Amino acid sequence: MHLHDLTIKSFGEGLLRKEFSALEITQAYLNYIADKDREVGAYLNLHGMEAIRSAEAVDVAISEGRRIGPIAGVPVALKDNMLVDGSRTTAGSKILENYISSYDATVTKKLKEGGAVVLGKTNMDEFAMGSSTENSAFQITRNPYDPKRVPGGSSGGSAAAVAANIALAALGSDTGGSIRQPAAFCGVVGLKPTYGAVSRHGLIAMSSSLDQIGPITRTVEDAAILFKAISGKDEFDSTSVDTDYDDVINPDLDDLKNLKIGLPKEYFISGLDKKVSDGMDLAIAKLKSLGLKFEEISLPNTKYALSVYYIIMPAEVSTNLARFDGIRYARIPDLEIKNLKDLYLKNRGLGFGAEARRRILLGTFVLSSGYYDAYYAKAQKVRTLIKRDFDEAFKKVDVVLTPVTPTPAFKIGEKTADPMQMYLSDIFTIPANLAGLPAISIPVKKYSLADKELPIGFQLIGKYFREKDILGLGQYYEKL
Ligand code: GLN
Repeated sequence: MHLHDLTIKSFGEGLLRKEFSALEITQAYLNYIADKDREVGAYLNLHGMEAIRSAEAVDVAISEGRRIGPIAGVPVALKDNMLVDGSRTTAGSKILENYISSYDATVTKKLKEGGAVVLGKTNMDEFAMGSSTENSAFQITRNPYDPKRVPGGSSGGSAAAVAANIALAALGSDTGGSIRQPAAFCGVVGLKPTYGAVSRHGLIAMSSSLDQIGPITRTVEDAAILFKAISGKDEFDSTSVDTDYDDVINPDLDDLKNLKIGLPKEYFISGLDKKVSDGMDLAIAKLKSLGLKFEEISLPNTKYALSVYYIIMPAEVSTNLARFDGIRYARIPDLEIKNLKDLYLKNRGLGFGAEARRRILLGTFVLSSGYYDAYYAKAQKVRTLIKRDFDEAFKKVDVVLTPVTPTPAFKIGEKTADPMQMYLSDIFTIPANLAGLPAISIPVKKYSLADKELPIGFQLIGKYFREKDILGLGQYYEKL
């Protein structure tokens, strides 16, 4: 058995056939991490002891003949903005360097209840703000396909871990593309579920009307399995919804063949990198070979999406980050503090990095009296127009296909000096967050680390709570 060949599906089958134990696989991952992660830098923290204990519990359950579920024993990595009771959660920020979570996020709880093995916490852009993981206060993460390039962000650690085979699967969070963009850069699958499909309880909030947690996996089938395990209504997140996701795994091709796919003309622009447009041609040709029909559509308000996002998101960021005051959660050690104001100023001044500060300032500005209507209220109206574009499109088609990113993975340092260039890498992923729609990033073909070819992903956006359409099409696509 090679870690490189494992999927959640094949792992589960091998476990039941007693080809290996959960402990053996967990040990193999921990050993491989110790070697490989020195080069990749995907993990901020390892949970070795707890991982071994969880794996042993699964092996005991199997030996006692108890029924185990589809994620039992699966070694997963969590982005470091999801709480795990009793362990460090930093959200990639210095201000939380010493923060110990006091409870499990709902996704953590669901993973534990399903018997999954949490290997550790992965690197990310500070508070999930970024597209390259370079905004982490702690370390750089490298793209496993080319160590000179970024893995994408903000869930770059999670995507790089799955791509480098140092986790079988991972969770990320996506506010404007942070699951899909790193998945595309690292040649893995990333699903941003419908807003409300997965509980955000215990996720350190970035922009609460946009944030969603989702799986990053090696196959679409694995994404479906992991998504089903973490989704559902949660009393601690009032925006979560109870939906039946029984049919996301092993879909019926005859049902899927009738789906019509829309190609929005605003996304297939001339400035697209050649490798990306070739990738789109390949994806479309393959889907056509399954018998699927395509139609050109228009999403005219897409051109405003980035501007709207950079008003609504910082507004929510500025309020969400107000809670980090140096008194609650964590404090920067060894500071000389004169009074309360000094404590706030020093902790926030030293604790937040440049990008967090930039967005707090921007958000405070757009919410300030006199500017609120001109910026925030107006952005909310345009957000509704963007959502309506999709409502109109979904009267004609069932799924929308687009690129995930305008270019393949860029070089480390290439965009750090120019925030606008960095922001533009999410231009194709942000609309699905603004509208709350489910969207998935799928590699256009099977990539091998040995080939060093930079991966390209395509995006499928589905109707509300119709994850089964995009996951279903994706499962057939990957079988081709
Ligand atoms: N890269 C985008 C940003 O910087 C999206 C981040 C995210 O989805 N968390 O805001």
